[in-house]
Formats: sequence, C-alpha cells, structure tokens
Amino acid sequence: RRAERLLGLRWPRDTGVRISNLVRNPDFAAYLNKGDFSESLDIPSPNIPECTVSAQIIPFGSSQKLMICRDITHFVHLEEMRRHFVADVSHELRTPITVLSGFLETFLDMKNPKIGELQKHLGTMQDQALRMQRLVDDLLTLSKLETSPPHLHEEIVDVPALLISLKELGQILSGEQKHDITWDVDRTLKFRGNKEELRSAFSNLINNAVRYTPAGGHIHLTWAMDDAGVRFAVSDNGEGIAPQHLPYLTQRFYRVDSGRSRATGGTGLGLSIVKHILLRHEGRLQIESNLGKGSTFTCLFPVNRAVHLVKSAAH
Ligand code: ADP
Repeated sequence: RRAERLLGLRWPRDTGVRISNLVRNPDFAAYLNKGDFSESLDIPSPNIPECTVSAQIIPFGSSQKLMICRDITHFVHLEEMRRHFVADVSHELRTPITVLSGFLETFLDMKNPKIGELQKHLGTMQDQALRMQRLVDDLLTLSKLETSPPHLHEEIVDVPALLISLKELGQILSGEQKHDITWDVDRTLKFRGNKEELRSAFSNLINNAVRYTPAGGHIHLTWAMDDAGVRFAVSDNGEGIAPQHLPYLTQRFYRVDSGRSRATGGTGLGLSIVKHILLRHEGRLQIESNLGKGSTFTCLFPVNRAVHLVKSAAH
C-alpha cells in the first residue's frame, strides 16, 4: 500500500513490470543505468509531487535487488526551513552592520573629528546596535522555547497582578501617543503556567497593539474564563490587517509592512514567540482583524489551567 501511495504502483497490475517503466523519472533512470547504488537517490514522488522519496537499492539474495523507499518530505521541509532561517537572520543583521561599519569607517577617515560632528551620528549608531540586540534577544528566546522541555517552571501565576505591570509598561511605550488602554480583568482568575513566558507572550501582544495603533487610539485588554476556556485578549482600533496576511503572521520574520515594523523596533519574531509560548501552555492564538478598523489577538487556554481564587480558598 505504501508503494502504491508513494510510487504510484498498482498491484497486481504492475507485477513483473520493470521498475524503470513504472517510476518515470530521468534521474531515477540514470541512477539505475549507472548501477552504483552506494548512495541513495532523492526524487519527487511520481504519485504525490509535493512528496520527496529517498530510494536505496541493495543486493537481495544471490541475484536480486531490493529497493527501499522512504518518505523524506518532512526532512526536506525542515532543511528548507533551516536554510530560509539562516538567510533571513543574515539579511536582518546585514543592514545594521552595514550602517555601523559605514559610520566607523567615516570616523576613522576624519583627520580631526569634532565631537559635535560625531554626535549627530552616534544616535543612529546606537539605534542600529539596539536593533541587533533586540534581534539576538528574540532569537535566544525562540531557541530557549524550542529546546527547553515544557512545564519546567510552572507555578500558579497571578495574571491580574502581572497585567497591572504590563498595562503600565504599555502606557510607557505609548508615551506621547497617549493611547487609551482599558481593561476587563477577572481579578480572581489565576493560571497554572510559566510566569516569564506568559509575561513575554502577553507583553508582545500589548506592545504590538500600541505599535500598530495610531496615537490616541483605544486598546482593550481582557482576562476572563467561560465554558470555552481561559482567554487573554488584546483588541485595538488600529490599522488592522488584510485577510490574506492572517495565516502567515506567526511565521518568523513575516511582516505586513517591513518599514513600519522596523521603524517601531520590531524584529518580526514577536508573534512566533507568542505562538510557541501558547503551544507550551496547550493554548492557541486566534487573530481577528479588519483592515483600517482594528484587530483582536486572543490567547485561548484549556479550562483546567485556571485556578480560581475563590474556589482554591474554599478548597
Ligand atoms: P513585528 O516585530 O514586525 O511587530 P510580530 O511577529 O510581532 O513582528 O508581528 C508580525 C506582523 O503582524 C507585524 O509586522 C505587523 O504587520 C502585524 N501585526 C502584529 N500585531 C498587529 C496589530 N495589533 N495590528 C496590526 N498589525 C499587527
């Protein structure tokens, strides 16, 4: 059945037919003709073009050969992701490094540099250095999330208290833009999870709402529980996102508008971090958005992670 699916063979119809007549692929034909089977051959599946098959031919009995095929689509996909990731990170680092080294070169060429002349460029240099720092910090966060086992430092987290400080930080980030941040928080609802991870996920969503909502806009935070589960939601009446982008937002380095993201200090990794953290808490991210009207990012968790203050006191 596997050979039927992967190679498109039909049994018993194809019994006794030469394999080269069945698997019609020029690389496969050349591989068979060459007769050197020390290495395996990777070819697209004749039956399912998006699958990759690795074929290995080995001696079988005294005069026969056995062909073993493995579906390596998953490995090919991972390898492709790794290559893209390295290319994306290099691309992200290239601009700040070019800017910094350009300025340093100019400074070195100056005969008698005056501090005033230098100063106007130092701000730009610092911005670029901070940009690299943010990128490396986010990459390290992602790598830690991928490599450390889940449930490692779980505790009962006082989310309402956490949200008090995150709301303040949101207001500080907003600064002169004076966003109106309101909330609806169930103060008795605590949560079993990793405090630092939850802080990181929730602050990423609040920061995004501030960064993608014009000055004076409204941002609303919700922390509540109902039959569907425990819910943390951030709604804004900002610029919103066109529907075709929604499925890709949690991919690394995916941005709707790169210039806008970078100008507000974005690394393009925030929502990937959020997604990872939610998965580690058996949660998922739901995104609803209307272009020009605003967005709501909701973190949904299973009910069994809730710890109700009233209930636990009674218990
Ligand atoms: P970034 O660092 O670019 O903000 P994220 O992974 O946090 O990276 O978000 C990915 C993209 O999703 C952003 O570049 C932006 O285009 C879009 N986005 C995220 N949050 C919002 C929001 N609240 N309103 C509008 N667009 C958003």
